[in-house]
Amino acid sequence: MEKLLKLIFPEKCIFCGQFGDVFCVECLKKCKVLMDSFCIVCDKVSIGGSTHEKCMDIQNTQESVHRLNLIFPSRLITLFSYEGVVRECIKRAKFSGREFLAFKRLAQFGCTYAVKLGLDFKDFIAVPVPVSSNRMRERGFNQSEMIAKIICGNFKIKMGTSILIRKKDTPHQTTFDRESRFKNVENAFKVNKKVEGVNILLVDDICTTGATFLEASKVLMNAGAISVECFALSKKLKV
Ligand SMILES: [Zn+2]
Ligand SMILES: [Zn+2]
Repeated sequence: MEKLLKLIFPEKCIFCGQFGDVFCVECLKKCKVLMDSFCIVCDKVSIGGSTHEKCMDIQNTQESVHRLNLIFPSRLITLFSYEGVVRECIKRAKFSGREFLAFKRLAQFGCTYAVKLGLDFKDFIAVPVPVSSNRMRERGFNQSEMIAKIICGNFKIKMGTSILIRKKDTPHQTTFDRESRFKNVENAFKVNKKVEGVNILLVDDICTTGATFLEASKVLMNAGAISVECFALSKKLKV
């Protein structure tokens, strides 16, 4: 498919117009790499993105997050800050073939960087966060699935596309405040295959509040997964 698209669309950077590639090296350099890692529960800095110990054990606190009786992922890996060219690229991915290729380039760039960081997902199965059937029709592809495929290639791990399915067609998260995001994804997923004894690497394009990851993780852990780690290509930083 990529070869065919290359024939149809001349290789020209979708951001600066320079010929050579759909996402040129100069523009790739503008992608802001995150220097910090964050805990998926409290969104504060944590070493290696590990969920803080105290955050793992907060079922009884007043925070809305925890009323959902969550079973938390152990780590959140995020590569880019969701801003500038990264934001543009992700938002435009569904528009055309060239933009789709640019997104693929970003995902490849991110995964190559993840390899350089020395990350390791041995014994994990990559599970993309599923999109609703409506959104799939609208986009034509699932962005998280594409990232997951690239991760599988780079880290030599298996893909588990149909492990998690979306049973509820949730509205776009972007317009919601924090509290509503958690409500919105509640009961959105179900596990379709046996996951007992499996380590899962959940994959998505953007992590904002972590609501989607936390909900998907809860469902997977309840179904018997040993552990869940989360991988988001980009993260929206708190302003
Ligand atoms: Zn460029
Ligand atoms: Zn924390």
